[in-house]
Amino acid sequence: MDSTRPHILVIGAGWAGYILSQQLDDTKFRITVVSPHQTFAYTPLLASAATGLFFSRLAEEPIRRAHRHITYYRALATSADLTRKTVTCAPSVLQPDGRDVVDTENLFAVEYDIVIIAPGCVNQTFNTPGAAEHCFFLKTVSDAEAIKAKLLSLLEVASLPTTTREHAKELLHIAVVGGGPTGVELSAELTDLFDEVSKTYPHLAGLPSITIHDVAPEILGVFHAKLKTHALQTFKKHGVEVKTNSHILKIDEGALYTKEDGRIPAGMVAWATGNKQCDFVESLHGVSKGTRLGRVLTDQRLRMLKDDQSILENVYALGDAADIYDRGLPTTAEVAVQKAEYLVNILNSSPSGLVQSPSPFTYKQRRMVAYVGGTDGVIMGKQDWTGEAAWLAWRSGSLGWTRSWRRKAMILASWAWNLLGGREIARR
Ligand SMILES: Cc1cc2nc3c(=O)[nH]c(=O)nc-3n(C[C@H](O)[C@H](O)[C@H](O)COP(=O)(O)OP(=O)(O)OC[C@H]3O[C@@H](n4cnc5c(N)ncnc54)[C@H](O)[C@@H]3O)c2cc1C
Repeated sequence: MDSTRPHILVIGAGWAGYILSQQLDDTKFRITVVSPHQTFAYTPLLASAATGLFFSRLAEEPIRRAHRHITYYRALATSADLTRKTVTCAPSVLQPDGRDVVDTENLFAVEYDIVIIAPGCVNQTFNTPGAAEHCFFLKTVSDAEAIKAKLLSLLEVASLPTTTREHAKELLHIAVVGGGPTGVELSAELTDLFDEVSKTYPHLAGLPSITIHDVAPEILGVFHAKLKTHALQTFKKHGVEVKTNSHILKIDEGALYTKEDGRIPAGMVAWATGNKQCDFVESLHGVSKGTRLGRVLTDQRLRMLKDDQSILENVYALGDAADIYDRGLPTTAEVAVQKAEYLVNILNSSPSGLVQSPSPFTYKQRRMVAYVGGTDGVIMGKQDWTGEAAWLAWRSGSLGWTRSWRRKAMILASWAWNLLGGREIARR
């Protein structure tokens, strides 16, 4: 390998890191990617995967590709010395039972010329007792698979002759904590799933229920009022209860506890209340960070800022882990993708990757879509839409997120197959 080419180290292979790993010019740079899973997750597809709309492996893409010359380490970046241009990493070792174990005994260092920091965020539980232990999250394909397995298990336990109808009702109550787009879409997909499994589990008719809890006074906070009302009406029509101003006190096996209602039995509690910074970002000292989410701050060219607001040369940051100092951009794939494509253009267009004064990054806000179940959705853009047209736009948008034609074709085939034969979860 030609060691005279600048070495770019990409930390994280989510929406931002994956695009960089696949689109940076591998004839111009030596590229190393460090990320704890060897695949990248299409997060907008996870709620569908969790409810068996298609095989969950279709919601991910491998980082290693035959035609790409990159080095990939299945590891976590644990600390960085930005002066010495070195990042310390810990292997993330896949166990036979599917768990990842971080091997802190075998740390290794990676030196770089340019580092791009994109490790995303982790789930925010606000230290709610029992949340980390008992709740189901939806950030990775493994999370989606865990939800699917739990749903199937609940349906089967509820079907046993030893399970009373009363207990079956409790088991089939799914509580979703968080009324943002992720919680809303998961609830919508669950509604469709329960509707469909009523054919394969007719003895459970009328027992499944879904409740969305949010501490805020309304769900889908950023959407226009008319769209929020539409979402609420659709949920009501499908029997989804929405509890706003609901304060979760703790979670334990089989129940959540709220300040307002006390103990509420639930077979599964899905937690979708947003993001907080990962340990690696927290470990970065002497750099500028935002006050609300603790994201590292960059200038408008995505160069990371020191805590005195001067630029750290050859250190870029993007995705959910970073924000531009005066912007407050949302933590979305839209932002991560646009920033990654901007950085790819800058780095690929210069011989050394060191462009003196590229034009600043500008974010183009695209329409915002949320699925609310039963072929209904809400879209906020130049015009607001609801109903079947919004659902169709959402479905085609889901396909748009996938970056490989093979995945698109397989997802389309799964949808067609579901129409004919039902979802995998109901058939397995
Ligand atoms: C269920 C769900 C649905 C969503 N739907 C939408 C949508 O419809 N539209 C939209 O715009 N946004 C959506 N989002 C938000 C979107 O997924 C995120 O904004 C986006 O993933 C951020 O990209 P990222 O690259 O910063 O981080 P991520 O995609 O989270 O990737 C970060 C990567 O870094 C790795 N990593 C973490 N720590 C380290 C470390 N220390 N060292 C090395 N690697 C590390 C992680 O394992 C991961 O692979 C959704 C999110 C979820 C969870």
